[in-house]
Amino acid sequence: MAQQPKEQVVNLYQGSKRIHPKLAKGRFANWRIAVILVTQLVFYVIPWLNWSGRQAVLFDIPGRHFYIFGITLVPGDLIYLTGLLLLSAFGLFWWTTIAGRLWCGYACPQTVYTEIMLWIDHLVEGDRNKRLKLDKEPWNARKIRIKFTKYLLIFVVCAWTGITFAGWFTPIRELVPAFFNFTVSGGALFAAAFYGFATFFMAHIMREQVCKYMCPYARFQSAMFDNDTLIISYDEERGEPRGARKKNLSSQEAGLGDCINCTMCVQVCPVGIDIRDGLQYECIGCAACIDACDEIMDKMSYPRGLIRYTTEAALKKEYPESKIKQRLLRPRVTGYGVVLLLVFAALVFSLFHRDTVRVDIIKDRGVMVRENKQGMLENLYNLRIINANEVDQVLLPSVSGFETIQLNGVDAAGIVVPAGSTITVPVQVATYPDYAGKGSHPIEFTFRYRNVNEADAEARVITEKASFIGE
Ligand code: SF4
Ligand code: SF4
Repeated sequence: MAQQPKEQVVNLYQGSKRIHPKLAKGRFANWRIAVILVTQLVFYVIPWLNWSGRQAVLFDIPGRHFYIFGITLVPGDLIYLTGLLLLSAFGLFWWTTIAGRLWCGYACPQTVYTEIMLWIDHLVEGDRNKRLKLDKEPWNARKIRIKFTKYLLIFVVCAWTGITFAGWFTPIRELVPAFFNFTVSGGALFAAAFYGFATFFMAHIMREQVCKYMCPYARFQSAMFDNDTLIISYDEERGEPRGARKKNLSSQEAGLGDCINCTMCVQVCPVGIDIRDGLQYECIGCAACIDACDEIMDKMSYPRGLIRYTTEAALKKEYPESKIKQRLLRPRVTGYGVVLLLVFAALVFSLFHRDTVRVDIIKDRGVMVRENKQGMLENLYNLRIINANEVDQVLLPSVSGFETIQLNGVDAAGIVVPAGSTITVPVQVATYPDYAGKGSHPIEFTFRYRNVNEADAEARVITEKASFIGE
């Protein structure tokens, strides 16, 4: 009689074990430290810089003005931000085609903050072995003291990161004292708490889980890879058969490949994979395994590069490794690069040649037409004037469209619009009923404007069309 298969319980949830990577040392680790320092310097220092008496970079969302050094962006300039986002996205695709996951391994905020958290782990709890041992220890006074110190440090880093993040959106020189005086606004408090908590949760609690399960980029990056994309790979042909051997024994003498099976490449891996199993989507391209393996190769007096940057095609011996650099500049990559460069140049050109003073004529829909004291027909308008300059501007408006037409509500000296601001001025346009019969009539506003402090300078001109509603 055929035996019934045994009932099996398959747990579809795989709990993750805490990974305690060893800190890698070497040329790629140095590059990563340099990138972390530069990106963090930008993040923490830029909000403290001043420019023309205001914060140099400030994304003032309630005021609907973005200040980036000498550039002021207003809602009408959102196209530039969209362009910037598109450029960043396509730049990332282009870069990935050339060099794989360099962004993930060196500059992604998730990698950067995880690395900072790992530095704190290392500083307070010690190296990988000590951390593993501490985790297994029962709770005692020593463990509580170490964990308390670590979380205190993490709290300080996350809190300061959150406050700095809020400082990109609220003037930081007012924000920081407001935190200590407990007078901070609800919006700034929320932004700081949200970003600070996200830093803690993503970089300390979740760590590699974010890259493995949450980041969409990890999933679709393979679509951008081709045979000539740089990848980090273990040279199986050279490394296998792997095995331990005495220190000064050559691989030939040991009858083995160059891999001594020390597992250092696995111990330093922040996502806990073994690069020797081949290219895996979890690999963030941090090159820690290259540094670890190079150190071992040096100790064994074997040539470096058992794990190295290479390409699929080179691994398949379609061309020698010396040709990799040439293949990086293949036609597809050059074509993408040229397009990106052109779009970038167009964006920068249009940004620096855009109209920095703009006027929107908004018809007051509440009052279509009325008769004033002189018996003239009057329409009401709101002039929304945007000054995206670094200098106050003075505008002299006039209006045309009928033989007799008046613009009321504006001072003879003109309208002064402070630098980097938007103001709304209500005005009245009036004409005699003989000129404006029933219906809509085209009129035109003209604004002559110049810098407030350049009274003699030739005025620039803006014209805007509008319509006048007759009786
Ligand atoms: S570090 Fe190098 S030698 Fe050691 S196990 Fe990894 S590949 Fe082999
Ligand atoms: S396999 Fe190597 S490059 Fe990939 S994540 Fe691990 S250590 Fe970094």
